[in-house]
Amino acid sequence: MQQKISLKLTPSEASNDAILTSYIAASLSINENQVTGFYKLKESIDARSRHQIWFNITLQVFVDEPFLHRNIQQVQFNNLTASSKSVIIIGAGPAGLFAALKLLELGIKPIIIERGKNVRDRRRDLAAMNKEGITNPESNYCFGEGGAGTYSDGKLYTRSNKRGNIDRILNLFVQFGADEKILYQAHPHIGTNKLPQIITAMRDYILDCGGNIFFNKKLVDFAISKNNITTITTQDGDVFQSNAVILATGHSARDIYELLHEKNILIEAKPFALGVRIEHPQIIIDECQYNLRPFFSQGDKIKQSIERGQFLPPASYSLIEQVNGRGVFSFCMCPGGIIAPAATNENELVVNGWSPSKRNNPFANSGMVVTVELDDAIKELKANHLGLEKSIYSPLALMNFQQQIEQKAFRLGGGKLVAPAQRVVDFCEGKKSSNLPNCSYLPGINSCRMDEILPSFIHQSLQKGIKAFGKRMKGYYTNDAIVVATESRTSSPVRIPRNSDNLQHPQIKNLYPCAEGAGYAGGIVSAAMDGERVAEMIATTILN
Ligand SMILES: Cc1cc2nc3c(=O)[nH]c(=O)nc-3n(C[C@H](O)[C@H](O)[C@H](O)COP(=O)(O)OP(=O)(O)OC[C@H]3O[C@@H](n4cnc5c(N)ncnc54)[C@H](O)[C@@H]3O)c2cc1C
Repeated sequence: MQQKISLKLTPSEASNDAILTSYIAASLSINENQVTGFYKLKESIDARSRHQIWFNITLQVFVDEPFLHRNIQQVQFNNLTASSKSVIIIGAGPAGLFAALKLLELGIKPIIIERGKNVRDRRRDLAAMNKEGITNPESNYCFGEGGAGTYSDGKLYTRSNKRGNIDRILNLFVQFGADEKILYQAHPHIGTNKLPQIITAMRDYILDCGGNIFFNKKLVDFAISKNNITTITTQDGDVFQSNAVILATGHSARDIYELLHEKNILIEAKPFALGVRIEHPQIIIDECQYNLRPFFSQGDKIKQSIERGQFLPPASYSLIEQVNGRGVFSFCMCPGGIIAPAATNENELVVNGWSPSKRNNPFANSGMVVTVELDDAIKELKANHLGLEKSIYSPLALMNFQQQIEQKAFRLGGGKLVAPAQRVVDFCEGKKSSNLPNCSYLPGINSCRMDEILPSFIHQSLQKGIKAFGKRMKGYYTNDAIVVATESRTSSPVRIPRNSDNLQHPQIKNLYPCAEGAGYAGGIVSAAMDGERVAEMIATTILN
């Protein structure tokens, strides 16, 4: 017999199989030796009570019958060496890779064109960013095999509610080497140290099945005839042809938006969000979220923190507040993480965050951003007389606005990717910090006033938002935390339109704008789902 049961347990009970077995037996009124095995179907942490943190677990339990391990669906991909239909995919990010896998499943040959390097070679360029402050515009945290997803945090949750598809994406991650935990945890996470092997396994599989992947090949041009792309050209002069083109170049490929605009191919400005990354010692976030009560010793002079212990993961948070009709929200929170330099061009400063699978760094960082509308960008571009009059009203207005702030941050930091930073209370009170605490950001930080970088509507909204979050999370509003500029690549500032019925660009029949760079996804899982969706749509068109 198999039974599904739900239990509410303390963290230490939830991590001990013998104790779990005794609870299962008690709950089913059977003997422990009748339980032949179990696996988790769901696991979430409930830290709402001030007195006790609970793990809510749902289990598949086997009673008086042989235990069968969780059935992980293995998707079968076709070997396509002889396929006559092919699709070019520009970009080997999550969208590009999952589109390629889907095409293989449907019997179509994928040809991936990627401007960056493979995961291994890419590492050297990341080291140069962190150690020497040098940005390679073709190989960085955003560009290269696996896209922005490879050296990301690898959080795999999405607000998208198409649950069926999410499960499929998570299953595929497990098929290519991710830990099975991601299938049952409420907030699944892979970690930067584990993602590269998974991406490499996907690449090997795509190649084994007859797909092609070309690295160090940047799309720089394409030819159009009768509303169809006939050929695409890469920067080294190679020319490729196929039945359809998936454009999955991510939100940082500004040259792609410029290329489309120059060719009079419809693109639109898209609202996005911009701000800073905020970093606290992890222990402060643990205290806030797990209600750990620090105590004082040595005549009440030294605050002693109580650690969360071995059974709880480093705590995270998700915060949102409306300030004067504008959203201020936390974004891509990384418990036990590192702030990373995520620029894609020299002379720009962009920060993001990652964490290893164990999330065992002493800091907790998160984006803290404010929504930006087209009107905001136009006002700022005009007010700053930036000599970009032509672009003020163009679809690239928000992109130019974003770039200018990143360039200002680079200058104020002092070069070599040193980031402007300010203590949190100083930031909210508009004071320059006289010194800065330790920070995980490896290229280094420099004390600056953020109001010299951020437009006032962003700066003031952040000040109010962070103060409000401090009221909600005791200990959050503290000068032991810092803000680091700039968190600017939250989503694409440009949308590449596509028809809702066939996912084709309205002007070019065989061009399929896809995922984050086109404005249809945000994050690894939603980008992967969009890649699959576009691939399925192409199959219905070119196989019929
Ligand atoms: C440091 C960091 C941490 C992150 N953490 C998380 C997280 O924990 N969870 C989460 O869900 N998301 C996270 N993200 C965001 C996530 O990585 C992206 O949402 C996701 O990768 C978008 O997928 P995509 O395939 O649409 O585009 P991308 O991943 O951006 O891939 C686009 C690819 O296209 C290539 N390309 C661009 N232009 C060209 C061209 N002209 N020719 C050829 N190739 C080109 C690029 O090199 C790149 O490889 C993080 C991002 C970063 C940078």
